Amino acid sequence: MKTLLKGGRVVDPSQDLDAVCDVLLEDGRVAVVGAAAQAGGAEVIDAKGLVVCPGLIDMHVHLREPGREDEETIESGTRAAVAGGFTAVASMPNTEPPIEGDEGVKFVLAKAHEAGLARVYPIAAVTQGLKGELLAEIGSAVRAGAAGVSDDGKPVENSALMRRALEYSRMLGVPVISHSEDAALSGKGVMNEGPVSTLLGLKGIPDESEEIAVARDIALARLASGRLHIAHASTARALELVLSAKQLGLKVTCEVTPHHFTLTDEAVKEYGTNTKMKPPLRSERDLCALRNALRTGAVDAIASDHAPHSAEEKDQEYDVAPFGIVGLETSLGLALTELYRKRILSLVDLVRLMSTNPAAILGTGGGSLKPGKPADVTLFDPEKEWTVDPSRFYSKSRNTPFSGWQLKGKAVSVIVDGRVLMRDGEMIGEQGETS
Ligand SMILES: [Zn+2]
Ligand SMILES: [Zn+2]
Repeated sequence: MKTLLKGGRVVDPSQDLDAVCDVLLEDGRVAVVGAAAQAGGAEVIDAKGLVVCPGLIDMHVHLREPGREDEETIESGTRAAVAGGFTAVASMPNTEPPIEGDEGVKFVLAKAHEAGLARVYPIAAVTQGLKGELLAEIGSAVRAGAAGVSDDGKPVENSALMRRALEYSRMLGVPVISHSEDAALSGKGVMNEGPVSTLLGLKGIPDESEEIAVARDIALARLASGRLHIAHASTARALELVLSAKQLGLKVTCEVTPHHFTLTDEAVKEYGTNTKMKPPLRSERDLCALRNALRTGAVDAIASDHAPHSAEEKDQEYDVAPFGIVGLETSLGLALTELYRKRILSLVDLVRLMSTNPAAILGTGGGSLKPGKPADVTLFDPEKEWTVDPSRFYSKSRNTPFSGWQLKGKAVSVIVDGRVLMRDGEMIGEQGETS
């Protein structure tokens, strides 16, 4: 099976490439990048005016299966991923029951295989049942295919357990992904602590709740010589801590989310419970620091923290609604509109943060269009203007603060393992089409 992507702007940080050329895919692999002379018999996709890049990877999503299939399933979540331009996602283990050990990981991989959409890289629990008491079977989870471990949704509060998890990460070559939060300091807080929380009369979560945990995790990463990845970094000082850890040569990486580089806590006044997430939307100063860190290369990845919740649960008072928003179908549009358009990131840097670096952090294939690499490719139109309409999401959930936003830049075709899953903005397999 051959597919020729003709005349697109090929952006591949792994080869320092940003040039108009052809990409030939053959038998699930990248065959040629350049002038594809031997493309006889190939299905041709006209990529003129489009960016052709290694498949985007969202390294932080919640797929809710098993347990909350009303909110998302591995099938619906990976369909939303493809619609958003992603060829792979890393799924967090805080399902009901949590994903741990080889059985949990095999369940996720089997469901993802059955769905046949975006690839899923399972992240397995650090502690049994995410209870923070005993270490889960990290070794067997990784041997079964887990790409990392995390208790995301909450921190691993016990420093001795976190140290052991980081020791495993060194031995097994996978990251410990940290939801860095001092739970006692966050307390019953529901939004960023500051003038806006005071004005609204809502309980605040101080920056220090994140910074204390990031500092501790970095100290433990040094002690254990482990691999630490800080999820959803949201404050200026958290980023400073990560940067200084990197300068010391520690294996520490971090991600930021589109909502944290787009919105501040001012949004809580306007958008209701779809602005409630952890960590909370921060101050203008933090947002500027995030954008600056993105510009200078201090941030390793952009990840959505896609967190589906039912309308009934989100449609409650701010104090009781659950934390989290969906992100798979708005992430690329927000990155292009808020970072590329505003000259914070070049396209090469954007693809590095959304594909090449996540692949390297997780140690998975992909993230590159070098010949021989898996034929996972995203084609997006950086000029396409569109309006966010949650009623058209492929995700089962609609909890986004970006409803009605005008964005510029959208994925139009997505290829996973050589299979065209979205073409010219249409999902294959729908409206009578077959794949
Ligand atoms: Zn988290
Ligand atoms: Zn999360």
